[in-house]
Amino acid sequence: MDPGRRVLHDGAVAISGDRIAAVATAPEMVRTSARRVLDCRGSIVLPGLVDTHTHSYQTFARSLGEGRALWSWLAGFLWPYASRLTAEDARVATLLAAAEAALAGTTAVLDHHYAPADPATVQLVADAWEEVGLRGVVARGMAGTPSPVATRHGLAGELFAHDTPTELALTRACIEDRLPGSRVRVWGGPHNVAYADQALLRGADELAAETGTRWHAHCASTVGDPATYRAAYGTTPVAWLHRQGLLGPRATLAHAIHLDDAEVAALGEAGAGVAHCPVSNQYGADGVLRLAALRAAGAVVGLGTDGAAYNHRQDLFECMKQAVLLQRISTLDPAAASSADALELVTLGGARLLGLDAGALVPGLLADVTVVGLGAPHLTPHHDTTALLTYAVRGADVTTTIVGGEIVVERGRCTRVDVEALCAEATGRARALARSAGIDTTARPGGTR
Ligand SMILES: [Zn+2]
Repeated sequence: MDPGRRVLHDGAVAISGDRIAAVATAPEMVRTSARRVLDCRGSIVLPGLVDTHTHSYQTFARSLGEGRALWSWLAGFLWPYASRLTAEDARVATLLAAAEAALAGTTAVLDHHYAPADPATVQLVADAWEEVGLRGVVARGMAGTPSPVATRHGLAGELFAHDTPTELALTRACIEDRLPGSRVRVWGGPHNVAYADQALLRGADELAAETGTRWHAHCASTVGDPATYRAAYGTTPVAWLHRQGLLGPRATLAHAIHLDDAEVAALGEAGAGVAHCPVSNQYGADGVLRLAALRAAGAVVGLGTDGAAYNHRQDLFECMKQAVLLQRISTLDPAAASSADALELVTLGGARLLGLDAGALVPGLLADVTVVGLGAPHLTPHHDTTALLTYAVRGADVTTTIVGGEIVVERGRCTRVDVEALCAEATGRARALARSAGIDTTARPGGTR
């Protein structure tokens, strides 16, 4: 992913401290000074994958909540579940998400976290990502004073525990309490532009400007969002953000599917971020991103898994493939997107959206590196590297994940956490939580709920 998009055969990467020191062919690389040499013969070495939108607290809801439209899924399933999570549940759910992501080659994440979103839990969640060894951002979920849209759609409730000034103050404290040098930072994360208090969105952008951070929110996720917003305010969410001067590189929006031409142009001109979640968009039947138009306009687009309750896996290789296929089937044009596009989105696009000095194997950048082992039948033969990565590789093919020069997955195993013990603890907690939330874990799609 260097500017020439080169694929080096017989390549080698040298790492010094937390940065990439050199990239060359193996014979060119001076190996004698290396303290350690990882033999990656028979592998593809690529920049670490960046997940620009997930919700780690949802990992306990994996495989539940089938067959509902988004807003009914939120009000009738996810929020009853989310409101019962304890701080320790959220910490263990995040460790599980982080282990799953690291094992699938993800090196950086944006975790939109809102259950529970008290400052102590937000720090626990950020610490959990760091404990597994990943870097990135926890965007602290903020509901604020219930807006007319939230109230009308029955979304106000326990998650709207604080008014807007209090939410902003709590987020500021979380940002400022994060130790300098932490791999995981905190941003503001209003839940959804469609139903957030408008003052909360203005405040989130101001807070980001003052603290050198960004902000993250769901936006234009469903086909009904623009109409709902128009009914309440006479405009659409993105048009409103644009008019308020809130679009810019600090704005990172999850989904941004239902946009008209003027909104695409506004997002692009502003250089705003869009976290594209193709698996989640299909799961909820939410729509198809205007990917080519947004990228051509100048928007910074990355890929996201979205939470385990709306994707079920944290596998960005699956998202790469689905991102391409979704563009093709919706346009009936096989040239609508390519594997090269997918690889750019998941590396360079994601790194830019998060503001990371990463996303390519280039000397001077952060040494965030993913190694995919080849040789399995589904990866044989190896002709075109980019196409193989996009269409054939699965997260489970990752052998090594390196974050800032540190090996966090080696030979397919997390180096920092005991994954077996973690899965056992997560299972026990998830079952207890489903019981306490009254969720029927045996219900089948089409059955009564
Ligand atoms: Zn989401």
